[in-house]
Amino acid sequence: MPADYHTHTPLCRHAEGEPEGFIDAAIAAGLSEYGISDHAPHVPEPFDDWRMTVAELPSYFQWIERARAHAAGRIPVRAGLECDWLEGAESWIVDLAGRHSWDYLIGSVHYLGDWDFDHPKWLGRWAESDVDAVWTRYWKAYASMADSGLFDILAHPDLVKKFAHIPPGDLDRFYEPAIDAIAASGSAIELNTAGWYKTCAEAYPSPRFLELACSAGIGLVISSDAHAPTEVGRDFSRAIGLAKAAGYRETLLFDQRQRNSEPLR
Ligand code: ZN
Ligand code: FE
Ligand code: FE
Ligand code: ZN
Repeated sequence: MPADYHTHTPLCRHAEGEPEGFIDAAIAAGLSEYGISDHAPHVPEPFDDWRMTVAELPSYFQWIERARAHAAGRIPVRAGLECDWLEGAESWIVDLAGRHSWDYLIGSVHYLGDWDFDHPKWLGRWAESDVDAVWTRYWKAYASMADSGLFDILAHPDLVKKFAHIPPGDLDRFYEPAIDAIAASGSAIELNTAGWYKTCAEAYPSPRFLELACSAGIGLVISSDAHAPTEVGRDFSRAIGLAKAAGYRETLLFDQRQRNSEPLR
C-alpha cells in the first residue's frame, strides 16, 4: 500500500489515540510509510480551538519520536504538518518550515476569511450562502496557496464540497485555473479518502479533477486524514482504483522535503 502522510494526533483536540496505536494500524494496513501531519499552530494566538498551540510544538515532536521508537525497523515515520492557508500566512509558514527538519508540509484551505467553512458548526451559514460565490472564492484561495510554492502536498482539493453544496453544471470552470496553478507550482495533491465519510460521499478530489490533474502531470499521494488509529489507510484499495482510473501509475514519497515515487500496485 502507498504511504499515508495525512494523519493527526490528539494535540489538535479533535483526534484520539496513542502513537503506538497509529503505528500498529499503519503496519497492519501494509503501508509503505507513515507520516504525521497534525494541524499546525497559527498566529496570532489564540487562533481557534482545533489545533495545537505554538507552545505545544515540543509535545508534537515528542509524539513523533514516540511513534518512531515504536516503528523502528518496521515502517519509516515521516514528520509533517497540515498548515492553514490564509491571507497573509506566508511569513508564518516560512517560520514554521524552519522549526523542524520536516519531511513535508501540507497546505490546506479550511478558511475563507474568518469562516472555517468545513466545520460542522457552520451548516446554517452554508444554507444562507451563494454556493457559486463560495466556490469561486475557495478555488481562488486554493490557486494562491499553490502559487505560494510553500507546500509539498496540497490537501483535499475540493474540500468545499464537504457538505454537498455543489454548483450545478460543469465544474471545470472552477477546476481548470486551480489545475494550472498547481501544475506550475510543482506541488503534489492528495487523494483524501475521508470525503467518502462526509455528506458529499465522495473522496477529495472528484474523479474529474483527478483526471485533469493526472493529464497536467501533477504528482499524487493517497491520504486517509486519520483522526483515530482505526482510520489509518482507510479505503486505500478503493482510492488506488480511482487513481488508476484517472491515469495515475505511481504515488510520491517525501523524505526531508525531497520526493521519490513508488508504483501504484
Ligand atoms: Zn482535523
Ligand atoms: Fe484539512
Ligand atoms: Fe487533516
Ligand atoms: Zn485535513
